[in-house]
Amino acid sequence: MSLSDAQLDRYARQIVLRELGGEGQQKLLKANIVMIGAGGIGSPALQYLAAAGVGKLTIVDDDRVDLSNLQRQTLYGTAEIGQLKAGLAKRKVEALNPDVAVEFSAVRIDGTNGRRLVEGAALVLDGSDNFETRLAVADAALGARVPLISASVAQFEGQLAVYRGWEPDKPCYRCFVGNDPDRPEASCSEQGVLGPMAGVMGSLAAMEAIRALTGFGEDSAGKLLLMDGLGLRFRTVKLAKDPECPACKA
Ligand SMILES: [Zn+2]
Repeated sequence: MSLSDAQLDRYARQIVLRELGGEGQQKLLKANIVMIGAGGIGSPALQYLAAAGVGKLTIVDDDRVDLSNLQRQTLYGTAEIGQLKAGLAKRKVEALNPDVAVEFSAVRIDGTNGRRLVEGAALVLDGSDNFETRLAVADAALGARVPLISASVAQFEGQLAVYRGWEPDKPCYRCFVGNDPDRPEASCSEQGVLGPMAGVMGSLAAMEAIRALTGFGEDSAGKLLLMDGLGLRFRTVKLAKDPECPACKA
C-alpha cells in the first residue's frame, strides 16, 4: 500500500516527524482500534485518531446525548440531544476523514460480550464512565491479548495508563485496582468534572494509541500518569505487576 497524493498532504505534519514517517502512517492506516465510550474522553480521542488516519475505528456506546453531556462531550451539539452517541460519532468521524472506516455497537460492554467486541483489534481505548465497565473492558482486553489504553477523569483529576498484562513484567488493570466488585462507584454525574480535564485525558489517550501503533518514544506500559488540575501538575508513577493477581499471574 502506498500513500496517495492526498494522503501525503493530509498527514504531512506527522509524516515529517522522523519517529513516524511514511512507515508510521502506513501502520496507522492499517490499524483497527476499539473505542469504549463516546463521551468526554471518547470525543477528543476519536477526533484525533480519525484525523491521524487510523484506518478503522469501532465505537462501543449505548448511550444517547443528554443536555448535561454537552459541557464536555465535544462531538455533539444541542440539536442532537436524544440521539445515539455512537451513530453520531460515526457520522462526524467519517466526515472528518474518509480514510477512516467506522463501525459502531450500541451496546454496553460486559463480561458476556467483551471478548467478541475487542478480539482482533490492535488496541482498545477505554473512556467509559464506570468501574464495572472498566473491569469488563480490562478482562476482555487481557483475555484477547489486546493492549489496553485506559483514561479516566473525575473532578480535577485525570489518570492514564497502558496495560499489556499478559507480558511477564507488565501489570494488568486488576493489578492496579484490585478485584473488589463492591468498590464504590464514582461517576461524573455524582462527582462532577471540569470539561477540559476530559479533553486533556482523551487527547493523551489518542497520543498513547498512536505511540502504541507506531512505536515512537518510550514504551508507556507499566506507568500511570496522574494529572492534578487544581495544582497544574502531572506526575508518572510505576505500576507494579502483582505476582498474586488472579487475572494475569502466569
Ligand atoms: Zn494483574
